[in-house]
Amino acid sequence: MKFITWFFVILVLVTVIVYFYYGNRIKYGALYAQDIPMSLTLNSVDDIKKIIPQSPAQIDTLVKQAIVHAQKIIDAILAVPADKRTYANTMKVYDDLALSDLSFGASICQILEMVSPDQSVREAAHRGYVELEKFSIDKIYNNKELYDALVAYNNGNRIHEKLGDQETYFVDYTIEQGKRKGFDKSPEVRKQIDECLKQLSILSNEFESNIAKDVKDVKFTQDELAGIDENTRAGWSQDTDGKYIIPVNPVNYQAILEHSTVEATRKKMWQEYATRAYPANDDVLKNMRSVRQELAQLLDYQNFAAYDLDDQMMKTPADAYQFLHDILQRVSPKVDQEFANITKNLPDDIKLNVDGRIDPWNEARAVAYYKKNNFQIDEREIAEYFPADHTLNILLKIYEKFFSLVLTQKQINGLWYDDLRLIEVKTQEGAVLAYVILDLYPRAHKYTHACHAGIIPATFKVDGLPNTKLSVVIANFPPATAGRPPLLNRSDVTTFFHEFGHAIHSILGRTRIASLSGTATKTDFVEMPSQMLEEWLFDPHILKMVSLHYKTGESLPDELINKILATKNMYSGTWVQRQGFLSLVSLDLFDKSSSIPTSDIYYSLYKQTRPHMLVSQDDKGWSSFGHLSGYGAKYYGYLFSKGFAREMFEYIENIGLLDPRAGAHYKDTVLSWGGTQDPNTLLYNFLGRKPTIDAFIKNLGL
Ligand SMILES: [Zn+2]
Repeated sequence: MKFITWFFVILVLVTVIVYFYYGNRIKYGALYAQDIPMSLTLNSVDDIKKIIPQSPAQIDTLVKQAIVHAQKIIDAILAVPADKRTYANTMKVYDDLALSDLSFGASICQILEMVSPDQSVREAAHRGYVELEKFSIDKIYNNKELYDALVAYNNGNRIHEKLGDQETYFVDYTIEQGKRKGFDKSPEVRKQIDECLKQLSILSNEFESNIAKDVKDVKFTQDELAGIDENTRAGWSQDTDGKYIIPVNPVNYQAILEHSTVEATRKKMWQEYATRAYPANDDVLKNMRSVRQELAQLLDYQNFAAYDLDDQMMKTPADAYQFLHDILQRVSPKVDQEFANITKNLPDDIKLNVDGRIDPWNEARAVAYYKKNNFQIDEREIAEYFPADHTLNILLKIYEKFFSLVLTQKQINGLWYDDLRLIEVKTQEGAVLAYVILDLYPRAHKYTHACHAGIIPATFKVDGLPNTKLSVVIANFPPATAGRPPLLNRSDVTTFFHEFGHAIHSILGRTRIASLSGTATKTDFVEMPSQMLEEWLFDPHILKMVSLHYKTGESLPDELINKILATKNMYSGTWVQRQGFLSLVSLDLFDKSSSIPTSDIYYSLYKQTRPHMLVSQDDKGWSSFGHLSGYGAKYYGYLFSKGFAREMFEYIENIGLLDPRAGAHYKDTVLSWGGTQDPNTLLYNFLGRKPTIDAFIKNLGL
């Protein structure tokens, strides 16, 4: 053989050896000298159990490993000389942090702290999260040297590379974010910023964990529980005196406030609920407000709200205030009418105050009473048409059809609790896209609200194939009682559809940029997809499809469906007003000086925006307003994105709520971009014009 032939034979041999030796690393690995992250080892149901730690020792190991792993990625970026920087060896590796054990570990710790029944696991998860957060702030978020490396690429070789649209957005976005972190400031100022960030991380975590840890019960005799049906009571245990022991959580709160005919009982439950995490969170919030204010001023913003909104769709607090005041004004006549309706014929156990206002613990009962008498609707009867298993199955079918997916329920044991479900999400061609763990029923020490939490983002491996995404949906549905399966209230059905909607957004929002995948979009946009999906549940055909009486096996009769539709806007004005109030609280707390007491802001806004309600000094609602840590000044995002959601819905409704073509258009123009485009562009691409909130206002029945 000629030399040249030998040369090729040897070359092929070397390639084969290298491929087998480093095969896995090449196949999975990030581009630069790092190990395979745990997030990329998820390929099957069994792998889920392998990667989620079960014991404090396993959590500690994961945390240590996460720090080593992230440090390797950072070192790899820093090691590249400025003139050799490329997108691949700098920006892509930086983005790999979103798939690293650091990201994975922080998500897992956060979730285990919310759901684990084992105190030692919750504590280890808490410690782990705090440690990983501290590392992230020091070594990534606030690492000037690392940021300078990204800038060196941006100012240097970027010009020679042709980047895709997502990559372009990512580089611009990352450089812009650096400015928001104060990298242009003096070392002294940067030290102060660093100090603020660390304090805020601790305060946020403390704020949320105080809410989670406030586990309390109220006790009532059977007489005190008049109005509460036997099935609901059967779900509560009794003490030796025969008193019912009732955990203070959203499910029981709703049951008592709506149906108890004893005012003292409602008042007691309301007081317990309205003082959750109080006084523990009073000081935490006070400190959070003052440190956030300090941080904003160090970064040359007037206040934290201005800083917080600057990179959002809304842009400025002034715009947010205008939006909220406008919507509150428009809705005000409807609220007056709604209040007149519910107070015209009150039950004997509710008296209005001399100036005609209602006590907060009487509102829900007045609404339920009015609804029952005027529309003959009792939500407890409707709940009989929504047994949990059937309902969830059909809701999943809707997603399946609309988004052209295959969703399969699977058994999963051996995670933090036994009563968990797993949804496998596949393409119609059979490729596994994601797993979603469902943790749906209440228990002691579990997070008491509903949420979706991502664990592994949906992106692509270096071989171009999709990775397997992992998410958790947490909820607190009414559990089964003797002789009855778990029955969902309509609000529970909506909650599931909403939270699973976030999961779908995070699965279909598969982008090449892992850190901007799925729901990693603007906070004041992220609730749009889920709030839009809620509208499905007011479609008569969908309601028929989803419902199945747990005894008779019949779906909702037309008569009840008509009543549901007739009552859709029965109290919608007041709902908007309440959301407006909470939005103003979240804005004001971070817009006004932190020297003004939180309670002053809260009560004064309550008086201004909720004119029909009595203000009670027992209301310490800010203490358990969990969004104040994560959403900051941006709670307005719910109303703002709901505004667009209605317009999007009407567009889809015209094509068909189960029409895969509508699903494909929505996926292609909006969801699949995750956070790699300006949401205004996505909305424009979907609608073919700029969105407005007119459809929303009209739909409220105004
Ligand atoms: Zn949501």
